[in-house]
Amino acid sequence: MPIRVLPPEVAGKIAAGEVVERPASVVKELLENSIDAGADDIRVEIREGGRRLIRVADTGSGIPGDEVALAFARHATSKLTDVQDLDRIATLGFRGEALASIAAVSQVTVLTRPQAQTIGQYLRVDAGQITLQEGRGSPAGTIVTVEHLFRTMPARLKFLKQPQTETGHIHTVITRYALAYPEIRFTLTADDRQLFQSSGSGKLYDVLIAVYGLDVAEKTLEVSNQPTGEAAGETGGESTPPPCQVYGYTSMPSLHRANRTYITFYVNRRWIQDSSLAHAVAQAYHTLLPVGRHPLAVLLLDIDPAEVDVNVHPTKREVKFRSSQTVFSAVQSAVRRTLVERSPVPVLAHSPRTWPAPDWERRQSLIAAGRGEPDASQLAMELYRPGGPFQPGDEPLPVGPVRLPLLRVVGQVGQTYIVAEGPQGMYLIDQHAAHERVLYEQMMSEHQQHAVASQTLLEPLPLDLDPILAGQLSEQLAFLNEVGFAVEPFGGTSYLVRAVPSILVVPDVRAAVIDILELLRQGDDPLAARAEERLIAAVCKRAAIKAGQTLATEEMQQLVRRLEQCESPRTCPHGRPTVLHFSVEQLEREFGR
Ligand code: ADP
Ligand code: MG
Repeated sequence: MPIRVLPPEVAGKIAAGEVVERPASVVKELLENSIDAGADDIRVEIREGGRRLIRVADTGSGIPGDEVALAFARHATSKLTDVQDLDRIATLGFRGEALASIAAVSQVTVLTRPQAQTIGQYLRVDAGQITLQEGRGSPAGTIVTVEHLFRTMPARLKFLKQPQTETGHIHTVITRYALAYPEIRFTLTADDRQLFQSSGSGKLYDVLIAVYGLDVAEKTLEVSNQPTGEAAGETGGESTPPPCQVYGYTSMPSLHRANRTYITFYVNRRWIQDSSLAHAVAQAYHTLLPVGRHPLAVLLLDIDPAEVDVNVHPTKREVKFRSSQTVFSAVQSAVRRTLVERSPVPVLAHSPRTWPAPDWERRQSLIAAGRGEPDASQLAMELYRPGGPFQPGDEPLPVGPVRLPLLRVVGQVGQTYIVAEGPQGMYLIDQHAAHERVLYEQMMSEHQQHAVASQTLLEPLPLDLDPILAGQLSEQLAFLNEVGFAVEPFGGTSYLVRAVPSILVVPDVRAAVIDILELLRQGDDPLAARAEERLIAAVCKRAAIKAGQTLATEEMQQLVRRLEQCESPRTCPHGRPTVLHFSVEQLEREFGR
């Protein structure tokens, strides 16, 4: 076929496809227009998941009567004038495409009136053609009604989901904007039922409650890297704001979700998706969350518009930062600092009940005398939980060094758990998780001092690997040799192991090394920030005693002693708990004493 220029209706529909994928995309574009128009109240009404009708009514600036028709022309916008404006875009819209695209695939009417005009304009567009325009009485602001979306595009229509699902997408879009614009009151009504409303109070926290509920909002911490009023005052008001201001809310470590969709970012109040920023947040929670769990966060970034390019994605949901490293570390450190400074350490509401445990004081003084640790202040901050046994996720894990009290080993159950008692009750310790934690801290500190204890094998061990594991090994080679291994290539997919970390001197070293490579292959451990940490965690997982292993009393005592001395004794390196606590009160309550 010869090359031909497409007729405008066809070209228009193709272009519309980029912007209008489903009813929620229409809602998004109309909301952006209302926000750009300075509205303080935006009401969205939908029918049949938006397929039948979408109406967005706002209290914004309105469109002057003589410009309404132009608003539907492709590339007609009031938000840009020349190419330089593209470098510092401060509005949500700027391409002048949305109304034209929506009108190309539906039937649109607009009723609009700027405050200063007495009569409004009514305009009707059918499949891209203006079919009616007349003056009409109208409230100040703009009402856009979109009906029969995709009626002329059966292919698109087929891809729409159940009305309920499409309504869900629309709900998501509206709550996203509501979070970014707390000063605007947003309302969503679906088939005459109100599904969402924000107050327009100007407080982000109020919107957080409206969107996620009070239970969730209460488990969040306010994030801000802006200079506080006081600090700004102290330096004579001259403290300059950071180049990337970060504010919003992030969940306490006790609140987490199965995936990252609850991490929401805005750049200059535009919702964006950015997996690298999500990773920055994940890193800030390093070791604070159970493995595979993700925080909930609403983070707003304010940055000089000249430092971001918002014109890189058809629906503008991705942006490009001029200095992505600056933004990444601003996000990471703001969240991390919030967690470290503000995460509540469990407060002892009333003094915990204790019971007389044998040998208690003697053991305490022996340890204090011999090692100088753990000291009394650490003992005070122990693992007491008023609400019952420690369960992953139901209470904030305190951040910082919260150590274990001194424990007396009672015995082993199920060849898996160690039963111990402390002054405030009974403790159940997962022997594998606990040993992993002990080995991990030991190896990490040795690694930091570049002194990982290593053991040379009597005979070098040849490893013939399959290509995948060989690839894994060659990728890790440098790290392996930094953490106590001595491994060298031996041609093809073969390697020679001359030494291993001392903790890995187990009967079958070959199987251990292969297990470690397998562990690394399976897991992108989201909590482990760096490759060495992942490697060390894998080595410790393999080297730790297993469940199902009978332990002698002395072995258990030694393990518990070492766990007491850990910096973060209460979770394994992968974030699972090592210890459950049953308080004296709880036991008494359970037994009805
Ligand atoms: P863009 O938002 O990129 O400028 P649109 O096609 O979405 O392009 O809108 C075209 C123009 O119509 C806008 O630039 C604006 O001037 C006007 N407009 C659209 N919606 C509204 C509204 N709700 N209130 C006021 N003006 C509007
Ligand atoms: Mg627009």
